[in-house]
Amino acid sequence: MTQQPKIIIAIDGYSSTGKSSFAKLIAERLGYIHLDSGALYRAVTLYGLRKGAIADGKINEEALVALLPEIEVSQRPDTYLFDENVEGLIRQMEVSSYVSPVSAIPPVRVFVDDNLHKMAAGGGVVMDGRDIGTTVFPNAELKIFMQADDLVRAMRRYKETTDPGTTFIDVLHNLRDRDLRDSTREVSPLRKADDAIVLDNTCMTMEDEMEWLVALLNEKYGFSL
Ligand code: C5P
Repeated sequence: MTQQPKIIIAIDGYSSTGKSSFAKLIAERLGYIHLDSGALYRAVTLYGLRKGAIADGKINEEALVALLPEIEVSQRPDTYLFDENVEGLIRQMEVSSYVSPVSAIPPVRVFVDDNLHKMAAGGGVVMDGRDIGTTVFPNAELKIFMQADDLVRAMRRYKETTDPGTTFIDVLHNLRDRDLRDSTREVSPLRKADDAIVLDNTCMTMEDEMEWLVALLNEKYGFSL
């Protein structure tokens, strides 16, 4: 592969717009590292559930925050909690139903942001989430904001679900709930950075998205793809 510029690409947007899948593909194409920030919030949530800081529909914020210093998370590229690959477990509905309120706790955001900055230290990174272009990497060279019709998003997510008891309506409600919480919370709410480019993929395939991106990288960022 010809050596390509090493920039930071920040991808933000609503739940289930395909940010992570797109980011993963971009990383493969460019030889970049892919960091999925949502997966880190999910791993913290999973740990909180295991340790009893989250139980019976309630999050004990103090107990959860007290656990943070002992948590070791990494992406290799699957998400690891200590030495356990938790990539599948963190996608289950139980984790999904608590992850937004967990991510609204300020010390949890500091914990995740610190980990992201460490993992991204060398540049050549594509990172996806809700506040990457606004808070985590406000100086990212390229910022993309992804959106799509919510029924289309819920159907995509439903098709990936492995929980036998989960219905399409459960997925749709969870997605709408997370969109609302994520965009209205006080700390780092989901919003388009002023300099982000909108990518609405309601009617696009991943190949269409890649074609769009390659043209952009070649024209504006000096890539030769
Ligand atoms: O991307 P994903 O849907 O897996 O993220 C799970 C949750 O983590 C989101 O609904 C959101 O509440 C939170 N999140 C966040 N900031 C990020 C990434 C994810 O608050 N940068």
